[in-house]
Amino acid sequence: MSLLVVGSVAFDAVKTPYGKTDRILGGAATYFSLSASFFTQLRVIAVVGEDFTEKEEQVFRARNIDISGIVREKGKSFFWSGEYGENVNEAKTLDTQLGVFGSFNPQVPDKFKESEYLFLANIDPVLQVSVRKQMPHAKFVGGDTMNYWIGGHRQNVATMLQNVNALLINDSEARMLAHDPSLARAAHKILAMGPQALVIKHGEYGATVFFRDGAYGMSKHPFRAPTLPIEAVTDPTGAGDSFAGGFMGYIASQQNLNREIFKRAMFYGGVMGSFSVEAFGTERLQKLTREEIDERYKIFRELTHLE
Ligand code: AMP
Repeated sequence: MSLLVVGSVAFDAVKTPYGKTDRILGGAATYFSLSASFFTQLRVIAVVGEDFTEKEEQVFRARNIDISGIVREKGKSFFWSGEYGENVNEAKTLDTQLGVFGSFNPQVPDKFKESEYLFLANIDPVLQVSVRKQMPHAKFVGGDTMNYWIGGHRQNVATMLQNVNALLINDSEARMLAHDPSLARAAHKILAMGPQALVIKHGEYGATVFFRDGAYGMSKHPFRAPTLPIEAVTDPTGAGDSFAGGFMGYIASQQNLNREIFKRAMFYGGVMGSFSVEAFGTERLQKLTREEIDERYKIFRELTHLE
């Protein structure tokens, strides 16, 4: 099974209560693919500039991620700078420089077209739909978006929603998308717009999956997964994408898709997000082992288990 992701491969400069970094490797597709690579074979489509070197390539290669779909262009890679205060769930964007990402027009190479699983990370919803259309045989498609697209490109987001099986967003994005302060009502309105499953991430409080009634033979009852209370959330950047990587990676590693698989995928998403925030940038994901993932998965089960 292979999982294709399209999204940003970037450089980030981050400031948190625990310290700050200069330009380090970041980007939604970076966090997603590193996280998902512990579960299945990963392929990445992105655009980078001349500042993306062998050193950055090596981070992907070390996890056996196929980066032949990362196009290099003249200019600079996408750059994002952000700051977190005491509230680890909210990043304040200080600077965004699109660089070569501004004219990104993702083309799926022929050799990637048979990928059965696809994740459309947070990019222009028009481009997300274009990639989806280039992969008519994809079995399961996940997608992400952000307030910028929901606020200013609502119609395009609505079209994107008809092209994904699962949407993964955070709670403020869900409320904004549905124009509804009640999360449960917002969830049902969003499901009516297209996806069969909606994963709402609550930052350090876990995540909830809502299902369209009858989809995948499931009831519409939601399921909530925890995350581990972490004492030092060193850098929350990429937690959402690492969650999505664990969630999609686990689903791609399974033969079937049913409620039980979704529930486990929610746990693996939480596990991967919780590791990602323990160090700056992708450092923790780079050092991670499968044994550590299995160990933490057990802790997650214990966290919510009742005799
Ligand atoms: P997350 O913290 O999981 O929401 O994702 C953080 C990552 O998203 C960072 O590494 C950024 O490089 C990347 N990012 C920030 N803003 C954007 C944007 N407008 N489009 C695509 N990627 C972005």
